[in-house]
Amino acid sequence: MDIRIIKSTTPSQKYRPKDSELGFGKYTTDYMFLMNYERKKGWHDARIVPYEPLKLDPAAMVLHYNQQVFEGLKAYSLADGGIGLFRPNKNIERMNRSARRMVMPELDSEVFLQAIKELVLLEREWLPTSAGTSLYIRPTMIATEPGIGIRPSEEYLFYMILCSVGAYYPEGFNPTKIYVSNMYVRSAKHAVGNVKTSGNYGPTLLVSQEAFMKGYTQVLWLDAEELKYVEEVGTSNVFFFINGELVTPPLNGSILPGITRDSVLRIVKHWGLTISERLISIEEVADACRSGDLEEMFATGTAAVISPVGQICYKGEDFLIADGKTGKLSQRLYDEITGIQYGLKDDPFGWRVRIA
Ligand SMILES: *Cc1c(COP(=O)(O)O)cnc(C)c1O
Repeated sequence: MDIRIIKSTTPSQKYRPKDSELGFGKYTTDYMFLMNYERKKGWHDARIVPYEPLKLDPAAMVLHYNQQVFEGLKAYSLADGGIGLFRPNKNIERMNRSARRMVMPELDSEVFLQAIKELVLLEREWLPTSAGTSLYIRPTMIATEPGIGIRPSEEYLFYMILCSVGAYYPEGFNPTKIYVSNMYVRSAKHAVGNVKTSGNYGPTLLVSQEAFMKGYTQVLWLDAEELKYVEEVGTSNVFFFINGELVTPPLNGSILPGITRDSVLRIVKHWGLTISERLISIEEVADACRSGDLEEMFATGTAAVISPVGQICYKGEDFLIADGKTGKLSQRLYDEITGIQYGLKDDPFGWRVRIA
């Protein structure tokens, strides 16, 4: 596949942040990848161009009916000076699964990976090198055909932008405080909770804002039918370490199948710990808090990798978890996964993909 590269004729006007200033999602890079789809032509015109606003018809279907899918992965500066990706084929597969659900065209997985490689290599100066930093990659597909009236678009844009991002925990872990929503839900079974599509996220903002105003960092979502079973925390999957058993809810359709979730399950199995993908009710969690059986709780996702939970509020009652500190298993998993990602540890599963 030939990817045209159109270089800017003027020097970059963008501010180059120091690693300590990065934060998450503030600093996009100089270039982006674009590719168009039309039903009769298929995917065509793959190109890397200077980062700039997109030109969209105000009637573009994505703006009205949310026909959109996206992904999130990272490029890492490896210990030996190279550049690595972490299980990128999982993101590519998931994006194609999401696209099928949203009646959007699939992408060729080799072209997709090539686009990631070429864009990251072109932008390698934006890849920060201090511990925990990375280049966040955001592939996105949108329906661009103008038309008011709901039906699948016949034209799409696939684009990819990059962000220099900082260490999520520059001063060590800061366990989060979680608020259980027993009023609003994130997704119902047979809806699109297991699809990475933008429509799942806007509706969560109101509850997140409420939780934030009460002093909590994230929302824990329960199932839509009974408001009984734990599903996810914020935009992360969730794990409980209860009495030596590591529990996470099963992928029942309303939960996003996280790649970090899958990595945690595979690593913990490899370590020989007991893991269960099973329903876990919020009452069971509350009881385990009361009895002291809940040893640790953590959320998983590409952005923070492992995010320990120090406190949880359910029906007005606050429970402290692991004394509000980071548990041993959370720390060990964080060290293992980031060790593989940054080339600091062996990679027994073959997850690291070197691109430089
Ligand atoms: C992306 C996402 C996750 C985490 O997936 P990873 O592949 O581990 O980054 C979990 N839940 C939701 C709702 C998500 O959007």
